Amino acid sequence: MRRVYLDHSATTPVDPEVASLMMTYYTEKYGNPSSIHSFGQEVRNAVEQARHQVAALIGAKPDEITFTSGGTEADNMAILGVADAYRKKGRHIITSAVEHHAVLDTCEYLAKNGFELTILPVNEEGIVSVEDLAQAIRPDTILISIMHANNEVGAIQPIADIGKLAQEHKVLFHVDAVQSLGKIPVNVKEMNVDLMTVSSHKIYGPKGVGALYIRKGIRLVPLFHGGGQEKKRRSGTENAPGIIGFGKACELAGRRMAAEAAELKILRDKLLQGILDKIDYVKVNGPLGDSRLPNNVNVSIRFVEGESLLLSLDMLGIAASSGSACTSGSLDPSHVLLAMRMPHEIAHGSLRFSLGRQNTEEDIDYVLEQLPKIVERLRMMSPLYDQMKQAQ
Ligand code: PLP
Repeated sequence: MRRVYLDHSATTPVDPEVASLMMTYYTEKYGNPSSIHSFGQEVRNAVEQARHQVAALIGAKPDEITFTSGGTEADNMAILGVADAYRKKGRHIITSAVEHHAVLDTCEYLAKNGFELTILPVNEEGIVSVEDLAQAIRPDTILISIMHANNEVGAIQPIADIGKLAQEHKVLFHVDAVQSLGKIPVNVKEMNVDLMTVSSHKIYGPKGVGALYIRKGIRLVPLFHGGGQEKKRRSGTENAPGIIGFGKACELAGRRMAAEAAELKILRDKLLQGILDKIDYVKVNGPLGDSRLPNNVNVSIRFVEGESLLLSLDMLGIAASSGSACTSGSLDPSHVLLAMRMPHEIAHGSLRFSLGRQNTEEDIDYVLEQLPKIVERLRMMSPLYDQMKQAQ
């Protein structure tokens, strides 16, 4: 059976070049980068090279990069670290309703512990309004945390405009760029960003590694205390093979991004158009054109459940993802789709395809051959579809 992986926003395969480099640092160059002997120092040099590579991809200086265990830790580090360091200045934080839970839940934790939170709404395409944000800023606002690109619907936020506003009001600005890194240009200086979260496993690097960009001069109370690694910002022996792999993945992403994005857009548009041509009662979720990630397709297929679609696709070797938070044990529709004011019944039929480097036209053809058949079969079992057809 053909196997088609269209869930790259969940994770990506490790690039073979990255994997082979990492292997050296597991088996041959295994020193602790904090050791002063040559075993340690050869690894230290490679970790510092990785810091350069990550910094180069986001327009930062190497000493502004702190390695973490991934995007979740970097989000927590940024938000909790700023809250703790700047609590005397103010206790108000602004975020958006479509953030990843690593941001939303961290902000909500603070809201239960003496901070005040404003959660900005989004429009029907999932985009935050800069005017709403301007109105939400108060004298005691210490942090704005808005993601660059949304993981579910691919909506790209007006980060540079928000950064300008944050700078004018002297409020720190954190951006979760986990989904945009390697897909569209990211530049902390041009975007006036103070803190930025990135993660390795979304860009063909290993899982369990990420980084937080911390603009020079920003204070941050660390999450972990201990050996004082990462300039005391993140204690704990570095995951050297992971960091070195992440650095390599960043270098490759920088070189390949423009060409890859152009190819992905062609495949994305072919998939979306094909779905719209072959299946009726389909709604496209998220923006079209330049405000959308080049690899994201998100649609709601009326009169079918997203989970049933996913399982049927999986049986045919196709990996996608749905908007329901089934991993958390509930079948509630995603908070992102609900924030976009989508009715529950439509949000329930949502399906996300996230394309990647290895996908081909044949992969898309296979999905376009199978998906309409699955939808037809599921709709035959749907009383709502039946009612709708009879009413016509
Ligand atoms: N932020 C966003 C927007 C994400 O999509 C993800 C992962 O899906 C994360 C943060 C968490 O990153 P990690 O898996 O590296 O902890």
